[in-house]
Amino acid sequence: MSLTAGLDEFVRPNEPLAPRTWFRVGGAAEHFATPRTEDELLSVICRCRDEGTPLRLLGGGSNVLVRDEGVSGVVLHLSSPAFTAIRVQGNTLVAGGGARLGHVISTSVREGFAGLESLVGIPGTVGGALHTNAGGRSGDAGQFASAATVITRGGDAIARQRDEMVFAYRQSSLDELVILSVEFQLDKGDPEELTRRMQKQWILKKAEQPMGHQPTGRIFKSPRGMSAENLVDQAGLKGTRVGGAEVCDRHPNFIIVDESGAKSDDVIRLIDLMRSRVTERLGVELELELEIW
Ligand SMILES: Cc1cc2nc3c(=O)[nH]c(=O)nc-3n(C[C@H](O)[C@H](O)[C@H](O)COP(=O)(O)OP(=O)(O)OC[C@H]3O[C@@H](n4cnc5c(N)ncnc54)[C@H](O)[C@@H]3O)c2cc1C
Repeated sequence: MSLTAGLDEFVRPNEPLAPRTWFRVGGAAEHFATPRTEDELLSVICRCRDEGTPLRLLGGGSNVLVRDEGVSGVVLHLSSPAFTAIRVQGNTLVAGGGARLGHVISTSVREGFAGLESLVGIPGTVGGALHTNAGGRSGDAGQFASAATVITRGGDAIARQRDEMVFAYRQSSLDELVILSVEFQLDKGDPEELTRRMQKQWILKKAEQPMGHQPTGRIFKSPRGMSAENLVDQAGLKGTRVGGAEVCDRHPNFIIVDESGAKSDDVIRLIDLMRSRVTERLGVELELELEIW
């Protein structure tokens, strides 16, 4: 039996991943699955488990660089409405793991919930934000999560309560295959005041990242007490190029790539160069925040 037999309504072969990532480079997924229901999701997971096929989940693609040779096995994507719904229950906002973080933030502000507006400007999905504990100076996604439902690689759905979840700097104990949904328990606030706060935060955030039209990605975690951006800058790397990849002048912890002709390999070689230059000049080992698939 072929890997995808009986699943071909929602599993496609040889799907280019570049348009689904922020870097817009890299190869294709051997199989790309967009399940429409939880049952379909479980059927792919169980099939991959039984066949020993590699399985990964792609959210908004803002923290992933796909290698030029592509990804073997199955890449899952939770873009169907069953996985992107956002609803409010009393003081709790419940979001599907595939929901855009931006939509969740705007819903919470509109409903007069305070907290999530501090995450405005972070691209990607709720699942991606919880998996990476995305955040910034004014807070991290994990601090607002009160419960989550996850699915393991074995196909088991597990409900996790607040006291079973641990979040640290760009780290999360929610490392199962799928974050299916997340509950955020939030304080009430005034929607107008929250909108002002969100707009202010949006302006600050936009000023410290590459321009919206540029294919890009954030590269390194900041070592404790230091800033990755400053370290890359101090190592004299701003504007350094390898092929079609360049260290962003505006924010040196980002790499930007040329729309035409850049390869994923250019980005990987530039990352290696940045890392070795920072170690050589400043004696600091930088750790990747970006995932390379
Ligand atoms: C312009 C720009 C600005 C950024 N600013 C910030 C910032 O301010 N702060 C910050 O922390 N990060 C920032 N990032 C990095 C990135 O946006 C975050 O890490 C984001 O949360 C990743 O979400 P995603 O949905 O795009 O995940 P992806 O990049 O698709 O995936 C990242 C990881 O999360 C996993 N994942 C995704 N969805 C799920 C799910 N539903 N269940 C289980 N696992 C899942 C993937 O398997 C993968 O391991 C920035 C990136 C860019 C390009």
